[in-house]
Amino acid sequence: MALGTASTRTDRARTVRDLLASGEQSYSFEFFAPKTAKGEHTLWNAIRRLEAVSPTFVSVTYGAGGSSREGTVRATERIATDTTLTPVAHLTAVSHSRAELRNIIGQYADAGIRNMLALRGDPPGDPMGEWIRHPEGLDFAIELVRLIKESGDFCVGVAAFPEMHPRSADWDTDVRHFVDKCRAGADFAITQMFFYPEDYLRLRDRVAAAGCTTPIIPEIMPVTNVRQIERFAKLSNAAFPPELAERILAVKDDAAAVRSIGIDYATELCARLMAEEIPGLHFITLNHSTATLEIYENLGLHQRSS
Ligand code: FAD
Repeated sequence: MALGTASTRTDRARTVRDLLASGEQSYSFEFFAPKTAKGEHTLWNAIRRLEAVSPTFVSVTYGAGGSSREGTVRATERIATDTTLTPVAHLTAVSHSRAELRNIIGQYADAGIRNMLALRGDPPGDPMGEWIRHPEGLDFAIELVRLIKESGDFCVGVAAFPEMHPRSADWDTDVRHFVDKCRAGADFAITQMFFYPEDYLRLRDRVAAAGCTTPIIPEIMPVTNVRQIERFAKLSNAAFPPELAERILAVKDDAAAVRSIGIDYATELCARLMAEEIPGLHFITLNHSTATLEIYENLGLHQRSS
């Protein structure tokens, strides 16, 4: 029996593909697998508060460099069994053999998970360091899309980059590789975080011009403290708006004012995107609920769940 049809729980689980096909804009949240008991408590606090606004789905990241395998499986499984939420499990190819990847896909299937985000991952240590393929592993995310699809009836998402993937030589190559992932079976995509709506819209137009209609969900991360300015740029290569940095740095000793500027900026970004027939919005929560809920409320989305 194919992995994705192995359990009754799996049969009951919804796919992001079907949820997006309903035509309503989707609203979803991203968490990461905690490493400590305190972190576990914080995560579950956030999950319970965010569950109350009925997101379309939630996702759990896979640790950088191929770490956090157990943590991601455990957190995603618990979301599948103990909540009303539809989970998406991230999976990265880096540092894993094909056999290990098949095994993890099997664990996800046993946990009742039908949705996965197939990623290549970055080399451990320096994310921009030399890519060294595991001797029995994969080179690109497209191979992981195929591996997951061969393993069962899964719904698979992939990554998209509004500012181009930093390893891509040019836009044409970047879009071609993205479209190839979609043609290999990806059902949806989620973008890297970004700060200018035009970046997302340009990517969407380029992909559409290449004849690809896979829904691309923009990812949003509100800035809530000064330290994030530097961290964001390092993690994502996203251009941090100088005017936003300037406004934040002008009030850097007033934590509430910094937070309020970050939340207002994210709210405006979401509002601009929502006017553009996007398939949905995916919020990076960093395992906290308050900033996301504030944006939700600012956009009037809390009424959607009541
Ligand atoms: P790929 O699609 O394989 O692309 C990587 C590069 O290779 C691109 O430049 C692409 O153009 C090029 N390329 C693709 N195919 C070919 C080919 N056939 N020949 C030559 N070049 C090719 N990382 C984690 O570690 N854990 C996570 O949970 C995680 N979640 C993420 C979620 C989202 C929404 C996003 C946007 C990123 C996430 N990442 C995560 C980061 C991601 O792993 C890195 O950005 C990684 O560098 C690229 O992954 P990819 O899946 O896009 O790779």
